[in-house]
Amino acid sequence: MAWIVILAVIIGILGYYAYKGYKGHPVGMEGQEVVCTKCSNKFVLASAFPGRTLFGFLKLKCPKCAKKFCYPLTTSYRSFYWLVIIMSIGNMLYIIFNLKQIPILTPIGLLVIIALWKDHLLKKKIIAAQHCQTNNKSST
Ligand SMILES: [Zn+2]
Repeated sequence: MAWIVILAVIIGILGYYAYKGYKGHPVGMEGQEVVCTKCSNKFVLASAFPGRTLFGFLKLKCPKCAKKFCYPLTTSYRSFYWLVIIMSIGNMLYIIFNLKQIPILTPIGLLVIIALWKDHLLKKKIIAAQHCQTNNKSST
């Protein structure tokens, strides 16, 4: 049972850093060039950014088209979510092999999977927007 305590401490520490990133400016995102998913406009992220959604996605506003859009997770968030998933799987295996029961997916595990799926979709959107912009540049 000691490993549960160790894992809880690790989650706590990582959660704290994720929360710090939530409160302050995004770690490693300041000054980074982002692309608007609505109009493919590229702009540099200022230190004052609009905020984050509940799952930790950046909420950005495009200076060109003034539309709000979400941006994929920062690395700290993504690694935190993956860690939660890995531990959920570990927990499930523990239940299956030691308690001989079929575990059910915890709500937290489910939310994390949804968050990572959304992250994946956003990344695809960003790549598409970047691609679109490159095409616009070459055509004009
Ligand atoms: Zn835009």
